[in-house]
Amino acid sequence: MKTYQFYANGVWHDPAGGEWVDSYDPTTGEVWAAIPRCREPDVDLAVHAAQAAFVEGPWSRMRASARGRLVHRLGDALVTHAEALGAVETRDNGKRSVDIVPGLQSWLADSFYYYAGLADKLEGTAIPVDVPDMLNYTRREPYGPVACITAWNSPLLIAVWKIAPALAAGNTVVLKPSEHASASTLELMAALQDADLPPGVVNAVTGLGDEAGQSLVEHPLIRLVSFTGGVGGGARVAAAAARQVKPSIMELGGKSPQLVLADADLTLAANGVAAGIFPPAGQSCIAGSRLLLHSSVHDEVLEKLLQIVDGAVLGAPADPGTHIGPIANRPQFERILADIESAKVEGASLLCGGRAVSPPGAPHGWFIEPTVFTQVTPCMRLARKEVFGPVLAVLRFDDDTEAVQLANDSEFGLAAGIWTRDAARAVSMAERINAGTVYINNYFNATTQSPVGGFRQSGYGRENGIEGMRAFTQTKSVWLSTDPRQGNPFAA
Ligand code: NAD
Repeated sequence: MKTYQFYANGVWHDPAGGEWVDSYDPTTGEVWAAIPRCREPDVDLAVHAAQAAFVEGPWSRMRASARGRLVHRLGDALVTHAEALGAVETRDNGKRSVDIVPGLQSWLADSFYYYAGLADKLEGTAIPVDVPDMLNYTRREPYGPVACITAWNSPLLIAVWKIAPALAAGNTVVLKPSEHASASTLELMAALQDADLPPGVVNAVTGLGDEAGQSLVEHPLIRLVSFTGGVGGGARVAAAAARQVKPSIMELGGKSPQLVLADADLTLAANGVAAGIFPPAGQSCIAGSRLLLHSSVHDEVLEKLLQIVDGAVLGAPADPGTHIGPIANRPQFERILADIESAKVEGASLLCGGRAVSPPGAPHGWFIEPTVFTQVTPCMRLARKEVFGPVLAVLRFDDDTEAVQLANDSEFGLAAGIWTRDAARAVSMAERINAGTVYINNYFNATTQSPVGGFRQSGYGRENGIEGMRAFTQTKSVWLSTDPRQGNPFAA
């Protein structure tokens, strides 16, 4: 069993209260690590370290190009430590190795490289204001110490998406991963030490949301909160930030629709739909958990989907032959099973799956079969609530207008998929769908260049892309008069 410390000011610490939280391996159901249960004094230590690094330390005063070079080194550190980091995340939250390690080595490391390159390109503008003899220009400036709060399903990915732009823009960071999966974030801190960042530039506190998380959000020296998690937690965090007039970025949940039109390549669509939810066992914010099928292809797509599901291998997430890994933690495992029972009670028809299973070699792990419900109606809870598990709700439509109406019949608006051979039709539908990301004949793609984020209750603000860096900056407008007497009634 491994006992972790938290990371502040470039040093590892035990929590002041002397308490730790158990972390479970979802493949075995056993405790494998202890995570510091940080509280207000620990958070205060980390935030003061971030404040000192920002105000006194070299970070904010450093030339932007030099800061960019350091952020680039964080990418190199990620590549060097990818295998070890991936192994810890797989152990801690059951994410498949094949979904982590190659990503850390390529497109997640690219996040650091991309924002490293942008560090010295945050240009302001010179504005021709309506005042004579006046130079007006804008600057993009960092906020200062920012809080980055992350969810348990992809701790490393979410952390990198936040800290790369935040640091490159000149902020300092205090990270707070989920109490259900903190180990990989603490290992990330150790890995990033390779880059020799000044102490206090990145810090990580762990523990419970309503203890460490709340103390962090409410700390007066924290100037912005970037949050990834559920709508309930997000609303609480946004409200707490608003009470202190702090801006927040909210990356929340979804109930994303996948639309299969009558003219789609049905094999491609069925594969895309299955891949859009089942490999992470539905534990992805953009999981395509509502399948909207044109009536004329309804049965054929489901037949193909059943074949794919029949051949899917559930098993240890470290095994490269595994298609579907475990549910990351016991409370989530129980919530998904309860949602499956509630879908049965409200009259949805169970086409396949629906049970907890024990794959060979993992008799005590938290595994749930890929599950498909048909005859789902829009008002059913199953069509509206985010299950965050391997549970697909199938609805049918008869024309494009109804398809768009069904797609938009949700409080969420994170992502949507459209499968059709008619590009013009797809583009027109993409315009009418309320979602932060629309995929046409593909699903699940994300790269550092393109912004991601939600409409409606899926959140606000964007991560990735140039927008993702702007979100970590504020605009200053500077007025320089070349004739200070102009317009001053007291000037001689
Ligand atoms: P959660 O909201 O329970 O917790 C998220 C984080 O917030 C955790 O670190 C938790 O400790 C912290 N937290 C909870 N209450 C807090 C409070 N009062 N103050 C400060 N911090 C607090 O979410 P979860 O169960 O960890 O993650 C699953 C959810 O995350 C799903 O809804 C999923 O869709 C969403 N998610 C969204 C994205 C995205 O980019 N949009 C990505 C991944 C996950």
